[in-house]
Amino acid sequence: MQAYDAVIIGAGHNGLVCASYLLKAGYSVLLLEKRSVPGGAATTEECLPEEAPGFKFNLCAIDHEFIHLGPVVEELELTKYGLEYLFCDPVAFCPHPDGKYFLGHRSIEKTCAEIARYSPRDAEKYAEFTNYWQRVTKAITPIFNAPPKSLLDVAGNYGLKNLQDLFSLLGGVDKTLDFIRTMITSPEDILNEWFDSEFVKAPLARLAAEMGAPPSQKTLAIGAMMMSMRHNPGMARPRGGTGALVQSLLKLVKSKGGEVLCDQQVEKVLIDDGRAVGVRVAGGKEYRANKAVISNIDAKRLFLRMVEPTDLDTANPNLRERLDRRIVNNNETILKIDCALSEAPRFEAYDHKDEYLIGSVLIADSVRQVEKSHALAQMGEIADEDPSMYVDVPTMLDPSMAPDGKHTMWIEFFAPYNIAGAEGTGLNGTGWTDELKNKVADRVIDKLTEYAPNVKKSVIARRVESPAELGERLGAYKGNYYHIDMTLDQMIFFRPLPEIANYKTPIKNLYLTGAGTHPGGSISGMPGRNCARVLLSSQQPFSQRFKDAGDSLMSVFKNT
Ligand SMILES: Cc1cc2nc3c(=O)[nH]c(=O)nc-3n(C[C@H](O)[C@H](O)[C@H](O)COP(=O)(O)OP(=O)(O)OC[C@H]3O[C@@H](n4cnc5c(N)ncnc54)[C@H](O)[C@@H]3O)c2cc1C
Repeated sequence: MQAYDAVIIGAGHNGLVCASYLLKAGYSVLLLEKRSVPGGAATTEECLPEEAPGFKFNLCAIDHEFIHLGPVVEELELTKYGLEYLFCDPVAFCPHPDGKYFLGHRSIEKTCAEIARYSPRDAEKYAEFTNYWQRVTKAITPIFNAPPKSLLDVAGNYGLKNLQDLFSLLGGVDKTLDFIRTMITSPEDILNEWFDSEFVKAPLARLAAEMGAPPSQKTLAIGAMMMSMRHNPGMARPRGGTGALVQSLLKLVKSKGGEVLCDQQVEKVLIDDGRAVGVRVAGGKEYRANKAVISNIDAKRLFLRMVEPTDLDTANPNLRERLDRRIVNNNETILKIDCALSEAPRFEAYDHKDEYLIGSVLIADSVRQVEKSHALAQMGEIADEDPSMYVDVPTMLDPSMAPDGKHTMWIEFFAPYNIAGAEGTGLNGTGWTDELKNKVADRVIDKLTEYAPNVKKSVIARRVESPAELGERLGAYKGNYYHIDMTLDQMIFFRPLPEIANYKTPIKNLYLTGAGTHPGGSISGMPGRNCARVLLSSQQPFSQRFKDAGDSLMSVFKNT
């Protein structure tokens, strides 16, 4: 049996980030990936090779904000391995049915000037709103970049600027209580509190709902941060697509002697005397892990499908039921449409400028429409009567992703995983069939064509992936793109459950990383980095850990 210090289940970007830190610390690492390409929900693929050769598509993630809130790119020196980020500006465009439009530039001032054309009051409020959420972002970023239950680690990340922002939000009892009140309310409440105009509220609601819930969802006010992050740290895409991030990580992993084996579906975690010692893949081959088995897939799939029930029950008799019943996955996921285009969309009725297509184009006519797109999905219904959507034309920023003069288009439409009333039919009993997914895609493209009349006729070829197919490709539970829901009750030290929130599990040497761990889904690399730090620190002698804790504490004082 081949042996490594660490074996990682899944080569998503978090698995690769985790591997990179371990390799840099001198570990031998093997990543086992079920698909024939590594990267998970962060790949760029030529997925229409016959109908549209030379067009490259981001099958999942495209817009990167969170990774710029952490040190992964710099610490791993990913630019040395070929990664180049292109920042979007403008960052968002949303045409409104009444002829107005929201155009978010990277600059807050320029964005306010756009809003002021229709509403001077909302323009003024937008500056205040963004300032508030930027302070929230800076105040909480140190928590993202540390294991959530390692208080000294969290404290060590606070510098003077973060502390100033934290105190500006929490200084005094009333301010603190008001901050808590803000955080437990909903994006919709917050938007109504700040703004009058629908053409401002609707796109902001759509971005807030990227957290994976309707804008009316209480406790998800944090979603309001999604637009402010587009101003700072900014929204960027790797040149060549999201897959270029994965390629840079692969180069780093391989240069440090790490191994990545594709088409290796892990079926079982091998446990000996309460300790994870390796894994078995489909076909029966086993790989030994001397120090750690790390899961880039979520805790529910890991423990309920890959760990022998008796091993789990011996380690923690309550965990199996808690994983099964307490972790929440609503029914909402994504129907994804990728198109090869002969020309870029033109928003003729909106004084079209190509720059509108550099950031994301949001079709969000009203907060109510956005609400329905999520709420109906959660109830098993398809909100395609009047679809809201998130569209990108990546070739506007990076023409290298399509043949000369041609374009690609990325469309995300929220849809249910299980369709109500169609149980037991379609793929995996979800109700999704090829006919249905194409019918929904037609409606989505028809709606977009109402705004950009040339869209429909410019489609050379398209790939539509239903929620059931997405779930199957990623191996994600109910197609959940964040592995488990990103609601407040499942964030920070509650993610995925309090007793396994610090990347360790009750089974010795079995660790968790990935979107299902703190700080959650999206392209950030933070779960990968945090997990590696926990593992590395647990292998150090106690005296070293004590010294590290002291250093962490000292750095707080030095930074302030
Ligand atoms: C359509 C879509 C659009 C998105 N857009 C954005 C965006 O614009 N910006 C953003 O920040 N985020 C976006 N996201 C979310 C983001 O892509 C994910 O949250 C993130 O990529 C998760 O990374 P991960 O490494 O934690 O997990 P994953 O990428 O899910 O990686 C897990 C890996 O494990 C593998 N695997 C699963 N089971 C097994 C097994 N049994 N054996 C071996 N390997 C296995 C999978 O194939 C996969 O490679 C999007 C997601 C989707 C689906």
